[in-house]
Amino acid sequence: MIEIDGSVGEGGGQILRTSLALSMCTGQPFALNKIRAGRAKPGLMRQHLTCVNAAAEICGAEVQGAELNSQSLSFTPGQVRAGDYTFNVGTAGSCTLVLQTVWPALMLADEPSQLKLGGGTHNPMAPPFHFLERSYAPLLRKLGAEVELELRRLGFYPAGGGEIEVKIWPAGDRLQAFDLNERGARLEGYAECFAPALPRSVVRRELQQLGADLGWSDEQLREAASRQNEGPGNALLATLVYENVCEVVTGFGEKGVSAEQVARDVVREVRSYQVSDAALGPHLADQWALPLALAVWRRGGAASYTCTELTPHALTNFETIKLFLPVRFSTSGSGSRWSVSVKAR
Ligand code: ATP
Repeated sequence: MIEIDGSVGEGGGQILRTSLALSMCTGQPFALNKIRAGRAKPGLMRQHLTCVNAAAEICGAEVQGAELNSQSLSFTPGQVRAGDYTFNVGTAGSCTLVLQTVWPALMLADEPSQLKLGGGTHNPMAPPFHFLERSYAPLLRKLGAEVELELRRLGFYPAGGGEIEVKIWPAGDRLQAFDLNERGARLEGYAECFAPALPRSVVRRELQQLGADLGWSDEQLREAASRQNEGPGNALLATLVYENVCEVVTGFGEKGVSAEQVARDVVREVRSYQVSDAALGPHLADQWALPLALAVWRRGGAASYTCTELTPHALTNFETIKLFLPVRFSTSGSGSRWSVSVKAR
């Protein structure tokens, strides 16, 4: 039983999700205490509980403490079973974080799986669907893990109701870690504004502000289509495509924040990626560590990547990964270029 203190480092929900994912992948049980002790409302919230239940269903785990607000959990995994699964967060909580939890084990399973996920698809503090589709999934494919993602319905806070379908093929022995130190030449950049059930003026103002600040042409500014039954909600996305990587920066509209301010926040993040020449932005930098460490664990050797920032979130994730996998992380760098390397122990 691996004993984990959920208050270390960032003390957030990522310690739980990474532990669940790697417990399923390695068959090692864990006991997690002080769950999300670093957060204003500690313990398991609805979306964390959905992650626990989804992980337990897929691997037939024995679980204690899987209740709302619970601050301790023990999880003893069984055999991972590929197949068709449906998981609903039941609120506007992020369903992409449920995917983040079960994806690694299903990619190592023997058969393909198909997931239907319900909840928020574009939430602050979670990977938006388009980030997973454009930034994360292509890197997984390069690693040897085939996946297909489809957005069936947008889901925003507070109404939720989003739907995602995912097909995951077994990577088998194909997982092959690779270095990702240079982003390569810039191929294109474009912005999209999703604003279902909101006035069209929101879309116009956000795109205009972003275009003016970044010097982007009208062709680079796109009003994204949405369905009748979606929203209300607003996400402004800037997609930056490079030869070796694609970054998606997302901003969210909220009551009391002007459309111009939403755009300026996205512009600030785009600029902070562009002033650096490192490959990965701050979110990819923390999310890429787990699949890369899995590939290093399965095949041995080492791999590295560069990133614009090393957040406490990423550093906490490295520490959690090391509890389950025989790998070592080393980091170096300064300013807006950092280097992370993962080696088999
Ligand atoms: P909590 O304790 O509230 O659950 P947490 O510690 O789980 O929080 P967050 O810091 O909220 O986690 O981040 C959750 C995950 O979502 C991380 O993997 C992070 O990289 C990712 N994420 C957050 N915002 C974005 C974004 N705009 N684009 C891509 N990924 C994001």
